[in-house]
Amino acid sequence: MSQETSLTSDQLWNAALPILAEHINEATYDAFIADAVALEYTGQRLRLGVSSDFARDWLQRHHAQVIGDCIAQVAQQPVQLVMETLPANAAPPSPPAPVTLPPVETPVPRAQPSSEMQAAPLNPKYTFENFVVADCNRFAHAAALQVAKNPGKAYNPLFIHSASGLGKTHLIQAIGHAIANDPERSHYRVVYISAEAFVNHMISSMRDNTIDQFRRNYRSVDCWLVDDIQFIAQIEGPASEEEFFHTFSTLYETNRQVVIASDCPPRHLQLMNERLRSRLEMGIVADLRSPDIETRVAILEKKALNEGVHLSRDVLEYVASKIESNIRVLEGALLKLCAYASLNQVEITRQLAEEIIGDYSTSHTDRRISLQDILDYVASELNCPAEDIVSKKRTQNIAWARQVAIYLARELTDNSLARIGQFFGNRDHSTVLHSYNKVQEAIEHDEQVLWLINDLKATFE
Ligand code: ADP
Ligand code: MG
Repeated sequence: MSQETSLTSDQLWNAALPILAEHINEATYDAFIADAVALEYTGQRLRLGVSSDFARDWLQRHHAQVIGDCIAQVAQQPVQLVMETLPANAAPPSPPAPVTLPPVETPVPRAQPSSEMQAAPLNPKYTFENFVVADCNRFAHAAALQVAKNPGKAYNPLFIHSASGLGKTHLIQAIGHAIANDPERSHYRVVYISAEAFVNHMISSMRDNTIDQFRRNYRSVDCWLVDDIQFIAQIEGPASEEEFFHTFSTLYETNRQVVIASDCPPRHLQLMNERLRSRLEMGIVADLRSPDIETRVAILEKKALNEGVHLSRDVLEYVASKIESNIRVLEGALLKLCAYASLNQVEITRQLAEEIIGDYSTSHTDRRISLQDILDYVASELNCPAEDIVSKKRTQNIAWARQVAIYLARELTDNSLARIGQFFGNRDHSTVLHSYNKVQEAIEHDEQVLWLINDLKATFE
């Protein structure tokens, strides 16, 4: 008997789970993979029991390939995957058998209960008052103000697009604040959600058989602010687009306001549903462009004021001259400077600014950053050979360098998730999302990572 066939079905499946967690997005994993049961493994074929016909069809359609690949990786040979629906009252899966295969670093994500509405709270700083208006954003700002005054009437939908870090999220949340604080609209339901969270919520609602409630919830919103719509097409394909389209249409047809932010204009969105595209183009489409130097100075001044810091004109102009095309990075430089000055109890002078952020390269707005640039740079900064980063190796420092590179690729370039995944060692889009989220999480919890990313990004901006 060969070595592989000595694995039981449970052993095979339990060893494949952590790898699957790396390759399948969290919502799908929690909804359909976590409670799947390995029924039988013959050495050539694995029978997998899943909780519903829907789960079976969903996995077949979107994830059969990746599940098959992960199982084959553990079994060290091709395995035919057969998925079937478990009877409704099937016995609970037997406790997992001890796994004797090499451990994999990534923990399996915990299942999260799907809440009634997975809307995110608004950032209190993202108000119209804190938004500096200038030529680069005047039109989008005016449209946003009109929408806030007359939701559902003036411009519907409002579609705002720009490159990263130019104020889309700030502006659409400002609309949310204005409506939520309008005494005449105290009954309005304002919901801000990223397209990615919307799709994740949809998937978990399907799993929990609460899709009707999900639909009722989203289709009774008065002002729907959807961020980063570009991911709608990239996450799970037509089903999520379809659901989004119906929510959008219901709200639109009942004169409720829809505001959308995107990293590209509607015509460049990778959508399968042409009706959705034409609906998105039906209202006002406004872009945000890179601010000129005076605007950057004004933004810095406002941010510094909000932080309770006074900066001389000289310092403001120096910082503004260093970072041209991304306001988030501009803000990062300011915060770094303030943090340094307060830690060391020194005054912020031009000289200090030169020392602290002098190595931020001045950007050239027409410069296109390539994935190769990012790979080379991360390899040298994190001391990890480029060929390891694009390899299948999974040791901690290589995996981390890869995640950082993927994060930067998604933040700094216009490449699709699929293209980024392909470049960094033929990984699929859910791995790219997973890597991105890992780094994002680390940024939120670990100040060292925050500065690392801040500095890496600044070099490119
Ligand atoms: P995007 O969603 O386009 O990536 P964000 O809305 O997250 O960008 O903006 C990045 C940062 O820049 C935020 O902290 C935001 O407050 C700030 N910002 C962008 N535009 C402006 C502006 N016109 N005035 C003040 N701050 C701005
Ligand atoms: Mg944003």
